[in-house]
Amino acid sequence: MFETETFVTHLECSETGKHYPPDQLYNLSEAGKPLLVRYDLDALAAFISKKTLVNRLPEFWRYREFLPVRKAENIIRLGELMTPLIPSNYLQELLEMPSVLVKDEGRLPTGSFKARGLAVAVSMAKELGVKRMALPTNGNAGAALAAYCSRAGIESYVFCPDDTPEINVREIAFQGAHTFRVNGLINECGRIVAEGRQETRWFDTSTLKEPYRIEGKKTMGLELAEQLDWHLPDVILYPTGGGTGLIGMWKAFEELEAIGWIDSKRPRMVAVQAEGCAPIVKAYEEGKTHAEFWKNAYTAAAGIRVPAAIGDFLILAAIRDSDGFATAVNDKDILDTQFQIARHEGLLLCPEGAATAAALIKEVHNGRIDRNEKVILFNCATGLKYSMPEADNFIDLTSPVNYGDLMKQNSQLGTSAKAQAANRTGG
Ligand SMILES: *Cc1c(COP(=O)(O)O)cnc(C)c1O
Repeated sequence: MFETETFVTHLECSETGKHYPPDQLYNLSEAGKPLLVRYDLDALAAFISKKTLVNRLPEFWRYREFLPVRKAENIIRLGELMTPLIPSNYLQELLEMPSVLVKDEGRLPTGSFKARGLAVAVSMAKELGVKRMALPTNGNAGAALAAYCSRAGIESYVFCPDDTPEINVREIAFQGAHTFRVNGLINECGRIVAEGRQETRWFDTSTLKEPYRIEGKKTMGLELAEQLDWHLPDVILYPTGGGTGLIGMWKAFEELEAIGWIDSKRPRMVAVQAEGCAPIVKAYEEGKTHAEFWKNAYTAAAGIRVPAAIGDFLILAAIRDSDGFATAVNDKDILDTQFQIARHEGLLLCPEGAATAAALIKEVHNGRIDRNEKVILFNCATGLKYSMPEADNFIDLTSPVNYGDLMKQNSQLGTSAKAQAANRTGG
């Protein structure tokens, strides 16, 4: 076990810039905006070098100096390994592009990148003496909260919209959270968490309503930079719900440049949303700094069904500062692309990850992404948590196996699965 060295100097309101002392429990700033953690980057740079990292374990705690946890004993670990960058040969060939890499976050504990944010948030909560945590979720954040809280000996309360996929609700409950379905969307679940704070004394761990989840998500940017030998890609497509990951990566790049580990070249940040829930895309197109609430939000990609994001202005600023953009894709294209990639090259993306692939196809055709650009797609969760079309070929052992039929059946599987894949769009 190592000693942690933290370089946190203060927290800062993302809107007004007002400073707050470190090592305390916070929700939003007095202005009602997200707080960002700030570090003494000169001291950090004097303490570690790129070379120091080489000898560390291949997990995201290798970036611990960039994180706020002060005492090593408070770190809650479930095996936060570095996630691989996998070339999508299918997309490279289809689009005639030299480099399309998928960062596969589905390998993390609890099967999604929500583990990054919640590992850090729960570790900080432990350090600061929290006994009870709560959040609203479309599934993955709840699973990560439940798992890390159980590991830390902290009680957890999780609220999901009642149409959250069964598997997610069950995994949350199974991993020890008090789990509730709510007949409303994620913002209404969020209201329950906020309103119940006084009476229940739980800590509101909603996206960007506490400052440490974003620090965990920041490790995606640090890790990506290190994996690419400190040369950032040209474009990052990110499936955007609350936007923590996009804002977190942007923060990572800023900190890396400040310590001289990367130059000033930034990737173009592209926020990908679903047509049925695209508040950031609308605000981007209308040139606004904040997004309006999106009514009747719908998409099969549950992780990006977020009608209102408290960090909307931070997402929009990162997109614009990076010369990126926001784009929406429809559910049919999302699920078709997911299926094509799975069957052509064995990569089982989650629908949100497939949305970034569908957006890439769309925007290469529109000319907003150039064929020569090096692209990273984020697959934020394992595809195994989502429903898949039935596979119902059957062999009846009461008669001899007919291999001719069997081969025919097998080739038909593609067609029937394809039809079923298309049918999922409506559900
Ligand atoms: C949470 C989540 C997202 C959205 O991530 P944000 O950083 O909150 O925008 C996308 N996909 C999946 C699978 C998720 O669980």
